[in-house]
Amino acid sequence: MGAPQGRRIPAGPRCPLPRCALHKRPRDLKSNSAACHPRARRGNWGSGPEENEDEEEGGDHRGSERGAVGRMQHRTIHLFRKGLRLHDNPTLLAALQSSEVVYPVYILDRAFMTSAMHIGALRWHFLLQSLEDLRSSLCQLGSCLLVIQGEYESVVRDHVQKWNITQVTLDAEMEPFYKEMEANIRALGEELGFQVLSLMGHSLYDTQRILELNGGTPPLTYKRFLHILSLLGDPEMPVRNLTAEDFQWAEVGAIQWRVVGAGLRETSWLWPPVLAEDLPSKQLHLGISLFLMEGLWSEYFPWGWVASFTKPKTVPNSLLPSTTGLSPYFSMGCLSVRSFFYRLSNIYAQAKHHSLPPVSLQGQLLWREFFYTVASATPNFTKMVGNPICLQIRWYEDAERLHRWKTAQTGFPWIDAIMTQLRQEGWIHHLARHAAACFLTRGDLWISWEEGMKVFEELLLDADYSINAGNWMWLSASAFFHHYTRIFCPIRFGRRTDPEGQYIRKYLPILKNFPSKYIYEPWTASEEEQKQAGCIIEFALL
Ligand code: FAD
Repeated sequence: MGAPQGRRIPAGPRCPLPRCALHKRPRDLKSNSAACHPRARRGNWGSGPEENEDEEEGGDHRGSERGAVGRMQHRTIHLFRKGLRLHDNPTLLAALQSSEVVYPVYILDRAFMTSAMHIGALRWHFLLQSLEDLRSSLCQLGSCLLVIQGEYESVVRDHVQKWNITQVTLDAEMEPFYKEMEANIRALGEELGFQVLSLMGHSLYDTQRILELNGGTPPLTYKRFLHILSLLGDPEMPVRNLTAEDFQWAEVGAIQWRVVGAGLRETSWLWPPVLAEDLPSKQLHLGISLFLMEGLWSEYFPWGWVASFTKPKTVPNSLLPSTTGLSPYFSMGCLSVRSFFYRLSNIYAQAKHHSLPPVSLQGQLLWREFFYTVASATPNFTKMVGNPICLQIRWYEDAERLHRWKTAQTGFPWIDAIMTQLRQEGWIHHLARHAAACFLTRGDLWISWEEGMKVFEELLLDADYSINAGNWMWLSASAFFHHYTRIFCPIRFGRRTDPEGQYIRKYLPILKNFPSKYIYEPWTASEEEQKQAGCIIEFALL
């Protein structure tokens, strides 16, 4: 179903939150600091095209920005970490507005990244693709991206001196390793005499505000979390898209783009698979920026589908993603979560009915926010020991079984197909993550969630410090949820939505000739039937 034609979008999106003070009435601009912000203009990807109808009415704030020219004295390095985008990028916008020269820089610090994030091959690949997309978007606006390899502190130190830098800007992040990086850069700033500006752009809310409203501690249930959000009101509006004019005012240092990594330009888009299969070949190298701008959005996410999205009704073993598949883009910050949130609000505002949190699409973004909030205030969030919200459980240590789970050799076709998809594509459906995580922990192998989390961190394109650890604690019944006897059966769970086992046949082709009745438990086939299927079953774990 396409977008309804000829309907105007109401003045403000409705808040999806139950009991929200702003619910069902136009946005109270005064209640939202960003809405009053001179940079909170239209033209943003997150606002549908119709929203631009009153473009003139709001006045053109570039006049006031130009008024700031007198203040544009900084020579700035804008340091991309996540936030690899030119829409809703408040920090880069602030950098451009306060500087006469801006160097857009990405520091490829392999040692830092592999030690802090256990980043695996697929995610490396996706990162390089995202950098290439960012570079080409910056070039289109008359700028460039400088990708510099090396240890980040030395790179910053060298280039601050070489380019006479007076300001370093970078997005505020909440992972301890990124916080430490920012603290080190601030210390360097004090030593070398440059300022540091960091603004929040990776989450919907300032998690600190949520903590304050909850008495200084994180809300540990989604219901309580939604209640706090209803006190806060809608998230801040996205800031406007960057344009060539922004870059005209701040000259970019005359430095050549340095290509890093052989073949960076030749890579084809890995994710989502639907792009590679369905789009004409000229669009195969489509980055998220083009994907969003060229009107493809509504083709991939029809309004009716968005409005009625109900997470539990999506299918874990469909051959193409049955959910949005946007998580890698959110995780790398190629796509702004605020822009997406408001795009959903616009769609909801035009729908007669739409689903609500926790199962709606906005509800999914709020789950993300929930885990970000808890992670931001919980020491040792990615560990069991020293983590105040995590049950202390004596898990088994079994390297052999862990290895079999990780390498898709448990002998349970549904679990092994999931782990194969994860290894090949770097993405699996949420319920497939449930199945794999439950199997490793409380369900079957009784191996620590920390081990599973590390494997996901290495293999997922969307690996995320807060969401990954939070969900692993949930699935292992270590935090948030404690019904540890509610187990996902590794045979029946997958069969419910894919009785013929098409998903298993795709990812475990060695089983493709088994009759459907055996596909989830091939060991129940007779020896003769196994021979006919061309595969003799030797064992399954347990
Ligand atoms: P959609 O259903 O289309 O949702 C849209 C967005 O909402 C997602 O992209 C994501 O940003 C957010 N979201 C959706 N579900 C959740 C959730 N349960 N918790 C928090 N945010 C959510 N997601 C990650 O992004 N990174 C991870 O490292 C990660 N690890 C996980 C580990 C386990 C054990 C489990 C059970 C879940 C994990 N998830 C993780 C959450 C979820 O499975 C994925 O976000 C989702 O499947 C991504 O697919 P999608 O973009 O199509 O999601």
